[in-house]
Amino acid sequence: MSFFEAHAPIFNTYVLGNAPVKQLATGFDWVEGPVWFGDANCLLFSDIPNNRILRWTPGEGISTYRAPSNFANGHTRDGQGRLISCEHGTRRVTRTEYDGSVTVIADGFEGKRLNSPNDVVVKSDGTIWFSDPHYGIKTDYEGHRADQELGCHVYCYDPASGTLKIAVDDMNCPNGLAFSLDEKTLYVADTGRMFGDDAQHIRAYDVGEGNTATNGRVFHKIADGVADGFRLDTDGNLWSSAADGVHCISPEGVLLGKILVPELVSNVCFGGRAKHQLFITATTSVYAISLNRNGV
Ligand code: MG
Repeated sequence: MSFFEAHAPIFNTYVLGNAPVKQLATGFDWVEGPVWFGDANCLLFSDIPNNRILRWTPGEGISTYRAPSNFANGHTRDGQGRLISCEHGTRRVTRTEYDGSVTVIADGFEGKRLNSPNDVVVKSDGTIWFSDPHYGIKTDYEGHRADQELGCHVYCYDPASGTLKIAVDDMNCPNGLAFSLDEKTLYVADTGRMFGDDAQHIRAYDVGEGNTATNGRVFHKIADGVADGFRLDTDGNLWSSAADGVHCISPEGVLLGKILVPELVSNVCFGGRAKHQLFITATTSVYAISLNRNGV
């Protein structure tokens, strides 16, 4: 079997012919939010319906990092290496401090509760950008069913001023997000298709002075599936979840190739010794593949 599907010749230089898509662990319900801790030599990820954050350590396997996790979903690390988490159950974004205490970064906007923060990225200036679709309050599967008080937006939190603002308000269901290498472009996945509309694209926005996001346009339409989550490599390519695996998309928005995964993929992150491994959360399992690329 082949683990790859090249759509452009250059993709053959990104993959290794003898490196498998390897299942690291399985038996979960819906895994998401992978984040690599090189300093601790482990991967953290969410098993959302089972209300826990798990840890995978090479050679040791799975252990529990946090349970209950407040139905945590996406994670990243800030410039100081601290864990930033989106929580469906408490409808907030948090930071885990070095001593293990948890600081709330955002849980509401203008007096109304957030929906269910889904995914998060930190810009080099320290601002924390997160998506807030309604998936975690639509059902009791990945959180607690509740009334929606706000639209589905992307927010930008500035820890220097303590202010939270809406950065993107023209999407159905913003989900995964990442910045281009120069941070002048913000990519945001729209997964509105999960609830019946046709949004299955990654949108791009110009990031301006004062952290505005303007000139929204379709960057790439995922086929088939949706771009739940994605990360960039050091050439600026996006490695995005899709129905049949992970799609590699050039900075010009062109599909270069696919990594084929036997389960529906939710998200990815780079990690390992040289950030050359792509960790893939996919429904009931976590997979990894070594690439001839490195994550940022
Ligand atoms: Mg997501």
